[in-house]
Amino acid sequence: MKDFKNKVVAITGAGSGMGRAYAVEFGKLGAKLALNDYNEKGLTETVELLQSQGINHIYSKAFDVSDKDEMFSFAKEVKNHLGNTHIIINNAGISGKGDPFFIGETEDFDRVLEINLYGVIYGCRAFLPQIVENNEGAVVNVASIFGLIGVPGVSAYCTTKFAVKGFTESLMVEFHKSPIGIHCVMPGGIDTAIADNSPNADEFKKTLKTPAEDVAKYLIKCIRKKKPNVLIGFNSGKFNLVSRFMPLKMRIKFAWNMMSKMGVLWQYESFNSLMKK
Ligand code: NAD
Repeated sequence: MKDFKNKVVAITGAGSGMGRAYAVEFGKLGAKLALNDYNEKGLTETVELLQSQGINHIYSKAFDVSDKDEMFSFAKEVKNHLGNTHIIINNAGISGKGDPFFIGETEDFDRVLEINLYGVIYGCRAFLPQIVENNEGAVVNVASIFGLIGVPGVSAYCTTKFAVKGFTESLMVEFHKSPIGIHCVMPGGIDTAIADNSPNADEFKKTLKTPAEDVAKYLIKCIRKKKPNVLIGFNSGKFNLVSRFMPLKMRIKFAWNMMSKMGVLWQYESFNSLMKK
């Protein structure tokens, strides 16, 4: 797909960060935008930002992507308001609390799965029929470089991002003979609000260096070229190489050292003392 004018682009998690950047960049190219976020305030800010730039073909709805019925209603409403969807970007995601798995809460773990994994699957289920009916367009699922290498403190996040990568790769194979592009975005450290609620936000934020706008622009290039993997952002090249060529034992050390430097291992003292008992 090369031209986005009057094409319908649905984006989840569009109230902040990369979701907002996708909306702005597709909006500039004349796309009609269907926007979601569960943060109503953020979503309204995105809509106002777009309108201030003269982008007015917008349908927006605040809901939680882990609610299957809401996702299916959204898809129907988008079709009624804007027409059949051409591109779904399943972007909404949370990072989780940063607990070591052993001392984290099951409910917190499950919440990350519901949003980051089931939100993506429901988005595909709800919007693919419209994209297939158009016989052109794209499915974009957002994973992470933490879907390439397992890292400590974010086991739920890694579980979902590895799963999104696997799920999306399966779709890539299923659709490879069709005109529909299937893409997996694997961002490195992108300058967004993702770390705002983590207990070690200041340290974490030091690794979020790449502007969200760069990711949106690169995604558009990848959709045009039907390039399936969208690997971009701080540390993404390094993580990709390590995941492909470094043996597991070395990868474990690499991941531990990397996360220590990011300051996300703040809880491990209590974890280690627990192990000694
Ligand atoms: P962000 O926090 O700025 O934006 C995420 C948006 O998703 C927020 O507006 C939030 O309200 C929304 N959201 C969260 N849960 C939701 C739900 N249940 N229903 C609807 N909306 C929901 O973060 P971001 O960095 O722009 O994250 C976008 C995606 O990129 C996420 O999937 C994230 O895991 C992924 N990612 C981010 C980075 C990074 O460095 N920032 C790196 C790799 C992957």
